[in-house]
Amino acid sequence: MSEISKEYDFKQIEERWVGAWDESIYYFDWNSGAPQYIIDTPPPYPTGNFHIGNALNWCYIDFVARYKRMRGYNVMFPQGWDCHGLPTEVKVEEIHGITKNEVPREEFRRLCEELTAKNIAKMRVTMKRLGFSNDWSNEYVTMTPEYYSKTQRSFVQMFGKGMIYREDHPVNWCPRCGTAIAFAEVEYDSRTTTLNYLRFGSPLGDLEIATSRPELLAACVAVAVHPEDEKKRKYIGTEVSVPVFDYKVPVIADEVVDPAFGTGVVMICTFGDKQDVRWWVEHALPLRQAIDRTGRMTEIAGRFSGMKISECKDAIIEEMRSEGTIYKEEPLDQNVGLCWRCKTPIEILSERQWFVKIDPEEIIETSAEIKWVPEHMEIRLLNWTGTMDWDWCISRQRIFATPIPVWYCRGCGEPLLAEEEWLPLDPNLTGPPVPCPKCGSEEFDPETDVLDTWMDSSISVLNVTGWLSDHKPRYPAQLRPQGHDIIRTWAFYTILRARALVGTRPWDSILVNGMVLGEDGHKMSKSLNNFIAPEEVVEKYGADAFRQWAAVGGSPGSDVMFRWKDVVSGGRFLQKLWSIYRFAAPHAVSSEGTSPNQVDRWLLVELSRTVEAVTEAMERFAFDEAFRAIRSFAWEEFADNYIELVKARLYGPDGPEKRAVQATIYEALEALTSLLAPFTPFIAEEIRMSLAGESVHTASWPEPRKVLPQPEGRLIKDVAAAVRRYKSDRGMALNAPLAGIEVYSELALETADLAGSTSSTVAVKRGRPEIETRAVEVKPQMKAIGPVFKEKSGEIIRRLREMDPKEVARMAEAGKVLVDLGGEVAELAPGAVEIESETLSAGRAVDMIALPEATVLIRTGT
Ligand SMILES: [Zn+2]
Ligand SMILES: [Zn+2]
Repeated sequence: MSEISKEYDFKQIEERWVGAWDESIYYFDWNSGAPQYIIDTPPPYPTGNFHIGNALNWCYIDFVARYKRMRGYNVMFPQGWDCHGLPTEVKVEEIHGITKNEVPREEFRRLCEELTAKNIAKMRVTMKRLGFSNDWSNEYVTMTPEYYSKTQRSFVQMFGKGMIYREDHPVNWCPRCGTAIAFAEVEYDSRTTTLNYLRFGSPLGDLEIATSRPELLAACVAVAVHPEDEKKRKYIGTEVSVPVFDYKVPVIADEVVDPAFGTGVVMICTFGDKQDVRWWVEHALPLRQAIDRTGRMTEIAGRFSGMKISECKDAIIEEMRSEGTIYKEEPLDQNVGLCWRCKTPIEILSERQWFVKIDPEEIIETSAEIKWVPEHMEIRLLNWTGTMDWDWCISRQRIFATPIPVWYCRGCGEPLLAEEEWLPLDPNLTGPPVPCPKCGSEEFDPETDVLDTWMDSSISVLNVTGWLSDHKPRYPAQLRPQGHDIIRTWAFYTILRARALVGTRPWDSILVNGMVLGEDGHKMSKSLNNFIAPEEVVEKYGADAFRQWAAVGGSPGSDVMFRWKDVVSGGRFLQKLWSIYRFAAPHAVSSEGTSPNQVDRWLLVELSRTVEAVTEAMERFAFDEAFRAIRSFAWEEFADNYIELVKARLYGPDGPEKRAVQATIYEALEALTSLLAPFTPFIAEEIRMSLAGESVHTASWPEPRKVLPQPEGRLIKDVAAAVRRYKSDRGMALNAPLAGIEVYSELALETADLAGSTSSTVAVKRGRPEIETRAVEVKPQMKAIGPVFKEKSGEIIRRLREMDPKEVARMAEAGKVLVDLGGEVAELAPGAVEIESETLSAGRAVDMIALPEATVLIRTGT
C-alpha cells in the first residue's frame, strides 16, 4: 500500500473524483423491474449562479438519491432547467443594449436561448463540483422544442377537456413588467398611504367619501353604503356626481361595506382591489379602465391622460385641495400587492387573457393523498387553496416563453387551436395547415401572448415520469423536494396539472426545505453583505465539508442559517476520518470466520445500532440526526474507544486474536464508508476504493448485524476510558504503566484489551471489593479555628497535627474534636478539621474509581 499522507487533501481528492466518476452509474433504468424512486427535482432558473439555497436543496436531494440507490431502488435524480421568463429578457436587453421590440421576435428569443445555454453550462460545473449524483441522461431544458411541445400539448389537452378558456377578466397586472401575472405571483407588503376625505355632489347634500386612491376617480363606477346605515340610507338608488370628472354614478347598497371605516361610504372603481372586482361582478357594473398596460392614465382620465399613476395622483390631490373638495387627509396603513419579481405595485386591469380553471376541492383531495414532510407545511397549500376565487391566468405578454399554439381567423375572428400532432410550433412563425373550419379563410393572426412559465414547470413531474414519451409512463413520482416559498405556485400548479392531465397525484411525498439565512440570521442577499456562494465554501473547505453543513444545519422545513463553523467542523471531521483511515488501513483485513472477542463484539453491536439509527433517520429525511449518529460512531466509539483498546492486539503476534481485530476494523470501515457515502461522497469513495477496490456508490446500504448486546465489551470500554481520565487528571502519559488494576463487577470480563490499552496488569474479580478507608492526615482549617480561638489558634493547630489522624477522624465523626492544650481542652466543631484518608484493599493503598457497573481499584504503592 502506498504511503497515505497525514493531511487530508480535500482539493486534490475531490477534484480527482469529479473527473474520474462514471456518471452512468446514476442513470435511471427504464427497463428495470426494481422498485422505482423518481425525484421531481426543481428545475432552477438558469441565472448562471447556483446559489446556496439551491445547493442546500440539492444536498437534501442527493442524500436521498444516494441513500435510495444503495437501498436497491431504481432512482431517477433528473436535472431540469426552467428557462423562460422575464429576468433573462431583461438581462439580454442589458447585455446587447437593446429593448425587446427593437429586434425581431425570433432574434430576441435566440439571444435569450444563447444566454440561457451559457448559464446552464456554468451551473452544471458547480453542481458536479458539489458531488451531486444527478442523472444527466434525464436532463431537460424547458426552452427546447422537445420540452415545450409537451407544454403546448398539455395546453391543447386541457383546452379539449374544457379546463382552459379565454375571457375578458380582471387580472393582476405589473405595469413595469408589462404583463399579466397570477395571484400566486402577487406579494403583499404594508405601506403607509393617505386616506383622502372628499365630497361627491348630490341634491340630498354632498356625500362624503374616504379613499386612498383618488387617481382612480375616473374609474369610479358606483358608490356603496351599508343598507342599514341610518344616515346614508337615503342616498341608495340615487346618483351622485364624481368630483373632478363630473359624471354621475349610482349609489348602491352592499352589506360588505364597513360603516365604521372612513365615512362609511365606499367608492367602487374598476379596479382598485379584489373587492372592487367582486362588487363589479355582483352588481353588474360597467367598466371604466383609467390605467393602461404601461401604468399610464387612459383617455377617460381626461386632462390627466398619459400621466404615470403617481403623477396623476399628485395632480388630482392638488386640484381637489385647491378647490376644497378634499376636506381632510389622514395617514393609513395598507397592504399593497406587489409584483413578486420587481416589487412594483400591481394594478388590476380587465384584459382578454387565457385562464386555467381551478377546482379547489380537487386540489385539497389530491393533497391529502400526498405525504407532506414536514407535515405542517400542507397548511400553506390548504390556506392558499381556500382563498382562490379567481382562476389561474396563464397568458403573459412577453416573448421568451412557450408560445400559445393558437391563431385567430381574420375572416370571422374564430380562434383556431393547434392539433397535438402539429406541435411544437410558434404561431408567430407558422400558420395553421388548415383553413378556418368556420368560414374557410386562410388568413390568420397569431396569438402573440405566451404562457406563464409555471405552465412549463408544473409538468416537470409528468415529463420525468415519461408522459408523452416512448417509455411506459411511471407517474406518480416518489418525491418532490422544493422550497416553502413556492408551495402556492409550483406545488399547487403541479397538483392541479397532474390531476387534470393524467388523473393522479403527482408524487407520493413532498419534502419541503427552508430558506438559507446569512450568518447574521437575515435572509441572504448581496445588499446585506451576508451573501455566500457555494463555490467559495468549496474552495476553502471542500464539497464534503459544505455538504456536512447542509446535513447538520437544520432539519427539512426549517430555515437554515449558513454557519462557517459548521463547515469548519465538517473539515475537521474529514481530517479525523482520514486519520482513522490512515491508522486503520494497514490493519484492515477482510476475513470470514474470525472469533471476535468481547471488545470486538461490542463495536459490532455499536455499529449495528448506528446502522439502524441512521437508516431510520434517513427514512424520515432527518439528515441531521443521521449524520450526527455516523459522526459520533466514527469519532467516539470507533476511533477514541475501540482503536485505543485494541492497539496491543493489533501490534501483537499473529493469531486468532489479531485476525479478529483486523476483521472488525475492516467491517467497521466498510460500513462507515457506506453510511457516509450519501453525505460525503468524496472521502467515502477515496477510502472505500483503497480499502476494497470498489466504488462505494455502487455498493449496498449496510444491514444491521444480528448481534446480541455485549455488556462485557461496553464495560471494558468504560473502564478503559475511566483509566485514561485517571491518568490524564494526574498528568501521566497515557501509556504509563500503573502498579496494577483490579476491576470488580458482575460480569466475566476478558482482560487482554484492558491490559493492553492501560499498559498495566489487570485482574478481574466478581462482586464488590472489600475496602477500608484510613485517615492519614489531619488538615486544620484556619478559617474555622481562628475566629473562635484567636491567640490560642496556633497552639491548637500544632497539637492537632501531632494527634493520631484516626482518632481525630473518629471524634469529628462523633460531632466534636477535643484538643488537649495542657490543662485546658479546646472543643472544635467537626468543620475545623479536614481529614485526608486513603483507601485500602487487602491492606494495600489504592485509588478507587466507582463506575455505575464496576469498581476499579488502582494500586498506588508498589
Ligand atoms: Zn413586475
Ligand atoms: Zn373564419
